[in-house]
Amino acid sequence: MSAINIKTLARENVLKFLKSFDTVLTDCDGVLWMHMTPLPNSSDVMNLFRKFGKRVFYVTNNSTKTRDDLVEKCKALKFQANKEDILCTANLSACYLQSLGFCKKTYIIGSEAIARELEQVGISYYGIGPDTINQNNPYSVFKKDPEVAAVIVGFDEHFSYPKMVKAATYLNDANVHFIGTNTDERFPVSSDVVIPGTGSLVRCIESCSERKAVIMGKPDKYMAKMLMERSNIDPQRTLMIGDRCNTDILFGTRCGFITLLVLTGVTALSDVERWKQSEQQEERDLVPNYYIDALGDLLPYLKE
Ligand code: PLP
Ligand code: CA
Repeated sequence: MSAINIKTLARENVLKFLKSFDTVLTDCDGVLWMHMTPLPNSSDVMNLFRKFGKRVFYVTNNSTKTRDDLVEKCKALKFQANKEDILCTANLSACYLQSLGFCKKTYIIGSEAIARELEQVGISYYGIGPDTINQNNPYSVFKKDPEVAAVIVGFDEHFSYPKMVKAATYLNDANVHFIGTNTDERFPVSSDVVIPGTGSLVRCIESCSERKAVIMGKPDKYMAKMLMERSNIDPQRTLMIGDRCNTDILFGTRCGFITLLVLTGVTALSDVERWKQSEQQEERDLVPNYYIDALGDLLPYLKE
């Protein structure tokens, strides 16, 4: 991998790069927006890609949004997007269970978005919201629901010891499916506070259940499998844009996509420089083909 700074290329070579793909997969948070604030010119860039006939997909690890939520968010922030252009881990979790012909109940550690997506495919669930320790009998906090045959772990602000007990107990049965939405360890930190991400919760449940979760999000290839099933894309002519190398860029590398890192989110250029020199293939796989300070910086090349 090369990590070419787009801005060091002659204009004709940037145009060649822009012509080298006809499908664009973009990560969302850190590339297009930060929470509710769009990053400058990023919507113009994405909308121009569409205008020039490129197929655009929004691929996010965020498990707290349904596809409908993300269509709404795109609309509010002026990104053109339809429901079928969105791949998000709450929806993929539901699709995964549906693909198994699953018709039992799911215990969710996660948010309402997972519940909404399960409802859309007719799968029953419980577990949303706070859970409290039974102070009189903390190690026997619940009775197993015999209908539960899957556990999904996504982002959950109410993550707690009672939830760990439930998940680990259900997963003690090897026939119970174990799904983790994504592996992001923590959120981008703009202040002094570190916010643990879903990956930390998934690892916690993996540890106490002594099981490995099937992961829906980047860098695992399930997302790409779903994409390939839904549309006919050519990996060699597909661009993956991301701000986090151990999810977005690794996903792109594994799938044989062209990769572009933007420096508006998690990964810093100093990390990329270190991985480039690494002896270890796993670290070299984190190096993108290209990088640019911000997605919006592509705008001058897309406008004549
Ligand atoms: N998980 C949660 C709960 C989030 O809120 C976010 C970003 O907001 C992410 C994961 C990462 O999302 P993305 O893959 O779009 O960067
Ligand atoms: Ca991101």
